[in-house]
Amino acid sequence: MNYIIAPPTPSSLPVAGSDQRFPVRRVFCIGRNYAEHAREMGAAVEHGQPMFFCKPADAVVTDDTDVPYPSATSDLHHEVEMVVALKAGGRDLSPSQANEAVFGYGVGLDLTRRDLQAQAKAKGHPWDVAKAFDHSAPVSALHPATEVTPTADTALRLSVNGELRQQGRLGDMIHDVPAIIAALSRLFELKPGDLIFTGTPAGVAALQRGDRFHAELVGIAELDGQMV
Ligand code: MN
Repeated sequence: MNYIIAPPTPSSLPVAGSDQRFPVRRVFCIGRNYAEHAREMGAAVEHGQPMFFCKPADAVVTDDTDVPYPSATSDLHHEVEMVVALKAGGRDLSPSQANEAVFGYGVGLDLTRRDLQAQAKAKGHPWDVAKAFDHSAPVSALHPATEVTPTADTALRLSVNGELRQQGRLGDMIHDVPAIIAALSRLFELKPGDLIFTGTPAGVAALQRGDRFHAELVGIAELDGQMV
């Protein structure tokens, strides 16, 4: 192909136990998927249609890369989440087809400019500047679903500078993984390479420059990094 400017290098994630990488196509995120987090944000706990937003694929950072503190905020928040990677796609998937589409699992941070999000909510504006900024999606190596199986009792944890900030269990999700994928597939034709952030438990709080974070999907995936 004879491109007029250099095409971007695709974002990718390491695959645990392999020298191959997972190419990232799109990043979908579900909002308010844990009741205690919805409550701490002052939002209603809704069990109907899930609420989605997106980040660009090149917001993904990995491999213990330092995360630059973003511009235009003084209230950057962490949201630790299980990340699901798809190896197959489609439209209108059933929950069992959704399960079969999963390549693997990781853990990530849905970094959020909370001050800009509050302004957007107040004005009825979209969330993009609060959620979809550069480096807003640190994600661990992916662990193939053939090797790991998250359960309702699998814990999600985030420590900052050694202090536990967030913890939850996957069984507390309002919409489980097959339901999230099935719902997304009614809105988008899903494709191999898509990533899904599956929501955060309570305890979201601010990160500062110099903070070291350690995120864990316990027994499955770990992510370390530093805000710089
Ligand atoms: Mn989130």
